[in-house]
Amino acid sequence: MYNYFKFFMASVCLIVFLFGCSDSEEETLNENTNSVTIPLEIYKKVYGVTSEITISGSYVYINTNGVPDHKSPYFKDTKWHDAKYEAYDPTNPNVFHTGNFNLNPNRVSELSISFKIPNSPSRSSRNNPTSMGPIGVSLNGVPFYNQYAGMNEPLTREVNSFDNYNGHPAPLSPGGENGSGGRYHYHMEPFWLTTNASKDALLGFLLDGFPVYGPEEEGKTISSSDLDSYHGHTHATKDFVSGIYHYHTTADAPYINGSGYYGSPGTVSQ
Ligand SMILES: [Zn+2]
Ligand SMILES: [Zn+2]
Repeated sequence: MYNYFKFFMASVCLIVFLFGCSDSEEETLNENTNSVTIPLEIYKKVYGVTSEITISGSYVYINTNGVPDHKSPYFKDTKWHDAKYEAYDPTNPNVFHTGNFNLNPNRVSELSISFKIPNSPSRSSRNNPTSMGPIGVSLNGVPFYNQYAGMNEPLTREVNSFDNYNGHPAPLSPGGENGSGGRYHYHMEPFWLTTNASKDALLGFLLDGFPVYGPEEEGKTISSSDLDSYHGHTHATKDFVSGIYHYHTTADAPYINGSGYYGSPGTVSQ
């Protein structure tokens, strides 16, 4: 009888141990998969900054002026004209245009953009849609924008105004892209960065803190069908060997981000 009791108690302990254990393992796994604290030296790959990048509390602070470090037809007649104006090159193979290049009436202007981004991005339990205006920062300090030209309006016409590096300045009309005129931005793969680094390079961060990579990975071209509805997935990358959730730019819509942020977004002021 005593032995049966001992056996019974041992079984109870074992069950409690197993269940207790599997619960906590699940939590750790979720944390490992979805929350990573990003070290300062990785943020320092963002070179287009106007002040030193700092981490304070649970945020990283990145300030840029939004002026691209590459040439563009959108420098025409600006103070940078002589150094940075370049006519559109129609032989550029890297275009998404559906018609001829259409120079929009805006020009690049110098801004003061402050990104406040979670330093330990983690998956959000709620849906956090992107808004018009900057949704992230690319390595050269130019903001990323979402897949829309206006409220749920696709980029169909706008795409023809993208320059050789796939960017353009926001329209002057206050309705379009919520937009302060002259804010240069990328809705799609920033060709300057992927050409200078590589198609599988780190390109920047979205406001929720998760990194954005180019359209290739281990020699394979990524398309939206390889990614989840937010336009990302989790695995190890060159910069994050333990694995991290990350977005990819793709040639097919929605290009950078899908149905909102995977994590909780920080803020941007300009
Ligand atoms: Zn735009
Ligand atoms: Zn990936």
